[in-house]
Amino acid sequence: MKDSTCIFCKIANGEIPSSTIYEDEDFRVFLDLGPAAKGHALIVPKEHYASIYELEDTLCSRVFLLAKKLALRMREVLHCDGINIMQNNGPVAGQTVFHFHLHLIPRYEGDSAGIRWNPGNVTPEELAELVEILRVE
Ligand code: 5GP
Ligand code: ZN
Repeated sequence: MKDSTCIFCKIANGEIPSSTIYEDEDFRVFLDLGPAAKGHALIVPKEHYASIYELEDTLCSRVFLLAKKLALRMREVLHCDGINIMQNNGPVAGQTVFHFHLHLIPRYEGDSAGIRWNPGNVTPEELAELVEILRVE
């Protein structure tokens, strides 16, 4: 399914040009226009899935194989010192385009990407309670 109002549907399906670095039947990978660092790319399925919750399982499993392939390429040709792989779901998590995408962000010593969070605290009781409710088979 495509969403005629969705910019990533249009880019992934070639209706809007992009700086594409990989394409197959199911995915397009293109460079982010607001890069956190040099080489920042997005892995985007051609079908419209708003977020991880909807993403079809086969595509879901393929995303990380693609991420690995591109991460190896980035390390080889950009000589980045590291790579962040990020995926935002929901506005509170920083999602601004509501078509599933995985960020590949090459990192360089001293860059200004600033991807970090403030570590919090958790008690043993809270950990136990969370394990109780989060555990899946
Ligand atoms: P999100 O915040 O939803 O996780 O990430 C959306 C990303 O898409 C941002 O990094 C933003 O720079 C990028 N982006 C938004 N619109 C366009 C566009 O039209 N073309 C490209 N190449 N990237 C876009
Ligand atoms: Zn879409």
